[in-house]
Amino acid sequence: MISLETRIELRVPGVVQIRYDSSTGKSFSETLQGLLDRSPDVIHAGEIRDLGTARIAIRTAVTGRKTLGTAHTSDAVSGLRRLRDMGIEAGRLAESCHAVISLRLVRKLCQDCRKKVDPAADPPSREVKLAQRLGVKPAFGAVGCKSCAGTGYKGQIPLAEVLELTHPVKSFFASDPSDADLLKVARKDGMRTFAEVGLDLASQGLTTIEEIERVVGIVPLHSETASSAGPVLVVDDEEQDRTLLRGVLDGMGFQVVEAETGASAKRLLDERVHDFSLVLLDSDLSDMNGRDLLREVRKSLVTQSLPVIVLSVSSDPREEIELLEAGADDYIQQPVVAERVEARVRAVLRRSGVELS
Ligand SMILES: [Zn+2]
Repeated sequence: MISLETRIELRVPGVVQIRYDSSTGKSFSETLQGLLDRSPDVIHAGEIRDLGTARIAIRTAVTGRKTLGTAHTSDAVSGLRRLRDMGIEAGRLAESCHAVISLRLVRKLCQDCRKKVDPAADPPSREVKLAQRLGVKPAFGAVGCKSCAGTGYKGQIPLAEVLELTHPVKSFFASDPSDADLLKVARKDGMRTFAEVGLDLASQGLTTIEEIERVVGIVPLHSETASSAGPVLVVDDEEQDRTLLRGVLDGMGFQVVEAETGASAKRLLDERVHDFSLVLLDSDLSDMNGRDLLREVRKSLVTQSLPVIVLSVSSDPREEIELLEAGADDYIQQPVVAERVEARVRAVLRRSGVELS
């Protein structure tokens, strides 16, 4: 077994691992071609980035040698798409490819402090809410102790999505279908998606639904009322602005929590007492720049996917771009118009999977 790698990260016993050296003047695909002269039983073609390498890998596979290769894609189906886009014909790919395995890592629940979820707790925990939306039973939740540095998780476990090119999948793929159609056929033939495998891991108490949701974003668009979606956090140092925003959100049916400073907003978010559905953030707070708070929010695993709309008096497009780049989901220029706030809130929530009824 021969493996061609750009950087050898892990020595594997029994495998001849060769580091690709560009200083020889040979391209990656030429080096790979050279290795085939040694007649390996198994060849790991490294990362397939170009048509040349992809062609050699496919040709080797067709001649009956077990060939492995990697590519950076978001899921198993798009692994095939990547090779198609490089220029490999669908029929040729269907003929030579056995399976695509897509891998992600999820955090493993700390076995010292994980806690059985109480489905009847009031208010329901985020884990219970997610389980309800997905129609599954919650198992264990993250707590946090000394051995996991207070995070509730310790170590990581792989989450694998396997697309096997079974006979029905092969013949369907040869007709060059869309990714969505291919996924449908593969699932009918037994494929399990990241979400399904992940929810299984959660039901075994190895991780949480919240973690699976963070890593694969599984929660489909679902209808909620403003009061069940969770409160909105309004962060603004001007009382007048807070009153105006509260009025709009009240009118929509939301519960509103206010913070006058960045520090108190940060505290409210860290405490996790409220399961906020959205944050409205003034970009110019008295104690800190809204952009810095936004970066903090995006850094924290707990709040990294929380929708945030930033309000700013600036009409400078650069300010808007900087805020969006710092992680804002939307931007509203002040002075605000009530109807615009309402429409933006609805649109941002929809993008995060919540359709307000
Ligand atoms: Zn722990």
